[in-house]
Parts: sequence; C-alpha cells; structure tokens
Amino acid sequence: MSTPTEWRDIQAVLDGERDELLRVLAGSDAPSEQPRPCPKCSEPMEWLAYVSDAESWRNLAGRGGYLQICRRCQVWTPLRVMVMG
Ligand SMILES: [Zn+2]
Repeated sequence: MSTPTEWRDIQAVLDGERDELLRVLAGSDAPSEQPRPCPKCSEPMEWLAYVSDAESWRNLAGRGGYLQICRRCQVWTPLRVMVMG
C-alpha cells in the first residue's frame, strides 16, 4: 500500500499537525526539479514535505519524504521516501 492514501493525511501535514514529526526530514532537501502539471487543472503542482502519522512511526511503518500536490484538486504524486522507520 502506498503512502499517503487519503487527502486528509496530506491535509494534516498542511495544517501543521505533524510539524514535530517532520524533523525526521531535517537535512534532506526537497527535490530541485520543477513540479509537474496537475493532471486535473494543469497548474503546476507544489512540493510538500510529508511525514506519516505518529502511530505509523510507533509501528515502525513511518515514512517521510517529498511529494507533489495540487491543493485545489486534492491530487498528489507517489511519495519519494527519504526516511523510514
Ligand atoms: Zn489541480
């Protein structure tokens, strides 16, 4: 199963609910390449630093990395995993 699976998972990151967990990404930079266009609205998507929820980390299934999102259409690309654990 790929991560994240639902937009609310991404929304939690956007809302700052996982700022503490995002520290796992300290030292890793967002990919420098240009985001691709959104498949729905064709506007450029944006890179987002993403981290899975606290429970996933307790279960050793945590994932941190970067993905591209379109907030308007609520679409996202597969996570580029930088940190697991
Ligand atoms: Zn879009």
